[in-house]
Amino acid sequence: MEAGVIIVFCELQNGGLRRASMETLSEARRLADRTGAQVAALGIGPYDSGLDEASRFGADLLLKGPAGPLDPERIAQLIAGVVSKRHATLLLAAGSSLGREVVPRAAALLGAGYLADLDSLEADGARRAICTGKVLAECQWTTAVRTATLKVNHFAIADAPRPVQVLDLAVQMEEPRTRCTLQPVPLGRPDLSEAQVVVAGGRGLGSGEAFVLLEELAQALGGAVGASRAAVDAGWGIPHAMQVGQTGQTVRPSLYIACGISGAIQHLAGMTGSRVIVAINRDPQAPIFKVADYGIVGDLFEVIPELLRQIRALPPQS
Ligand code: FAD
Repeated sequence: MEAGVIIVFCELQNGGLRRASMETLSEARRLADRTGAQVAALGIGPYDSGLDEASRFGADLLLKGPAGPLDPERIAQLIAGVVSKRHATLLLAAGSSLGREVVPRAAALLGAGYLADLDSLEADGARRAICTGKVLAECQWTTAVRTATLKVNHFAIADAPRPVQVLDLAVQMEEPRTRCTLQPVPLGRPDLSEAQVVVAGGRGLGSGEAFVLLEELAQALGGAVGASRAAVDAGWGIPHAMQVGQTGQTVRPSLYIACGISGAIQHLAGMTGSRVIVAINRDPQAPIFKVADYGIVGDLFEVIPELLRQIRALPPQS
C-alpha cells in the first residue's frame, strides 16, 4: 500500500471514544507507521468532543463532522465525501453494528471494495479467520480505494499520543432516501462489547426467567450479561445482541463468568480473549473447563446465589 491517507470512522459515546474505535485507530497507526501514511480520525454526532481523544491513539488529523445525530445513510454519504475529498486510499471502522451499516454504504457510493470483519491488516492485503478459525481467508482489494471493518475486541490498543491538526468539516448533504435517527439508549450498565465483567448464561439456565440471577450477579460486579446461542435460540426472549461467539459478539473483558455453558467451539470463538475465565457447570467433563482459569463444578442455581451472598458481604470498596 502506498503512503496516503487512512480515514478511520470513529464512534463516540458519552463524551469519549468507543473502545472499538480506539482499537481501529491503533491498528491504522501501526499500518501507517509501516507505509508512511497519515491517519485521519473522522467523528460525527452529538459527542464530537470525544474525538479529541483520537490523537492519543495515533491520529494525525481530526475531522469533525456535524454535531447532530445523523441517520446511517447520511453518515455514509459524509464519509464517502470525506474519503474522496482527502484522496484517502483506505477507509476503516470498527465492525460494530454502526460500522457494518455505514462502511458498506460508503463503499457503494465510492465504488470501492469492502472487506468485513478483518482480524489482520497488512500493507498488501488483509486476513480474516473463518469457520471458527479453521480457515484463514487471505483477501485483497482490487479497487484503488479500499474499505474495511475490523473485528471488535481483537486488536491491541496502543496509547501513542501525537501532535494533531483539527479540521471542522463544512458539509452539504442530499436528502436521505430513508429516515432513521440514532439515539443512544441509557442502559444503566456497560455495553456487552466493552464491559470489563461479563456474566454469560447458556442452556443450563433452563428459562429466560433464570437470567434474572445473572442480571443480579452482573449488577453486583458492575458488568454486562451475555448468552450462548442455545439460550438465544431457545425462545426465552434473550436477544441476539446478547449472544457471544462466532455468530454473535466477540468480548474481551477482564472477567468472563460462563454459567451453564458447555463451551462449544463457536462460543469459545467469542470469549477466549477474556483475561480471566470462570466456568460454572455441573458436568465436570464440560469442555468449558479446558479454557477456564477457575472452574466451579456444581449447580448454578446453588453456586450463583452463594457467590452473590459472598460478594454482598464484602466491605464496600473505597
Ligand atoms: P449446551 O451445549 O446444551 O450446554 C449446556 C450446559 O449447561 C451443559 O454443559 C450442562 O452441563 C450445563 N448445565 C445444565 N444445567 C446446569 C445447572 N443447573 N448448573 C450448571 N450447569 C448446568 N454458540 C454460541 O454460544 N455462540 C455463537 O455465536 C454460536 N455460533 C454458531 C455458529 C454455527 C455455524 C453453529 C453450527 C453453531 C453455533 N453456536 C454458537 C452453537 C454452538 O455450537 C452450541 O450449540 C452452543 O454454544 C451451546 O450452547 P450452551 O453451551 O448454552 O448449551
